[in-house]
Amino acid sequence: MANRQNSENEFQRAQQVIPGGVNSPARAFGGVGGTPVFIDRGEKQYLFDIDGNRYLDYVGSWGPHILGHNHPAIVGALEAALPSGTSFGAPTVRESELAELIVDAVPSIEKVRMVNSGTEATMSAIRLARGYTGRDGVVKFAGCYHGHVDSLLVQAGSGALTLGTPSSPGIPEGCTRDTHVLEYNDVESLIQLFSEAGEKIACVILEPVVGNMGVVAPTTEFLKALRPLCTQHGAVLIFDEVMTGFRVAFGGAQERFGITPDLTTLGKIVGGGLPVGAYGGKTEIMNSVSPVGPVYQAGTLSGNPLAMASGVATLRTLKESNPYPQLEEKTTKLVSGLDEIATSLGIPHSVAQVGSMFTFFFNPEPVTSFAVSAKNDTEKFSKYFHGMLDRGVYLPCSQFEANFVGAEHTDEDLEQTLKAAREVLQEIST
Ligand code: PLP
Repeated sequence: MANRQNSENEFQRAQQVIPGGVNSPARAFGGVGGTPVFIDRGEKQYLFDIDGNRYLDYVGSWGPHILGHNHPAIVGALEAALPSGTSFGAPTVRESELAELIVDAVPSIEKVRMVNSGTEATMSAIRLARGYTGRDGVVKFAGCYHGHVDSLLVQAGSGALTLGTPSSPGIPEGCTRDTHVLEYNDVESLIQLFSEAGEKIACVILEPVVGNMGVVAPTTEFLKALRPLCTQHGAVLIFDEVMTGFRVAFGGAQERFGITPDLTTLGKIVGGGLPVGAYGGKTEIMNSVSPVGPVYQAGTLSGNPLAMASGVATLRTLKESNPYPQLEEKTTKLVSGLDEIATSLGIPHSVAQVGSMFTFFFNPEPVTSFAVSAKNDTEKFSKYFHGMLDRGVYLPCSQFEANFVGAEHTDEDLEQTLKAAREVLQEIST
């Protein structure tokens, strides 16, 4: 097993001054046990920890690093921007450049507002949908994560019309009173909810491909039903493309599936590894945002010059290099390899892949909803995770996360990953 003593020591130190030693709970290895790896640096497809171990990285900072770590175009853009200053709180040309790139790329976006995180993007989109429609109801789907927004931090309710109860202390029930939680891919429940409460629903928000209960693809029937139902009932359709934007296609899931939402939220890749989120959509709706319209939303560091430089460099590089067909090919190779190995060893499993997002589930049923995902064998996953980590493969530290293949992953990397997986799965099966 690799020596990770420095990580152990630093984790002890961090826990003295940071709750749980981490600045975001998903990093704490809570689901798999053990000590989080402290990272020293990233280079292309690799992470290096503070003990000098090297890992093949399938987390990519939870999504942003589709181009790999330390991409020269992004580093160059940051170096060029830095001497001019880090923040002005006044308009800059780069904000328009990034907005133009987004508007060009994402089919539904005519106007876009920059924020600092995916959470801010979804929070603002919900407020806008409510302000625009004059309604309070929000529909979300169990297992979809939209950041730690009060009204969206709601666990699965049971049954179609269950109203949400907050899944964290500190969220007054009033905040989630108007949040309806349905099962993902369940068209019937959505139809029923609209027929009973349609005039109260401001918006339907979803991950058009779920990454946050492991990868779960939408059924064609589900995706196709959303647009006409929302239109018919005057509800705003929000695609949360914080993860899927510039990931499953340059124009996101909406380009891939040919469905146009009213509003879209973005994050992760749009900032190329710096803190950026964005929400955008039809001009008519976006014109309700302050200072044009009455829906207030603001940010001291929104449109930050360094973050914009990183975002512009990322989107330009993606647009010019179009890595998407190759990303998908590589991911298919990896996922079918994992599937074959697990099948040959008789390990109950299923796999899910959309573009370069994938999850290997320790669950024999194809995962189509949170109810199915809840049956994953998380103990087996923990063994798999640690076995892979010890062999230099850095996976997301939870069964309920998406893995990402990036432009820098090579065929040899995939082979190495499959070799490690074979060894680990063999151990698990005996
Ligand atoms: N929406 C989705 C689909 C996400 O996956 C995430 C984060 O993982 C968020 C929103 C929240 O983004 P952030 O962590 O930048 O606040």
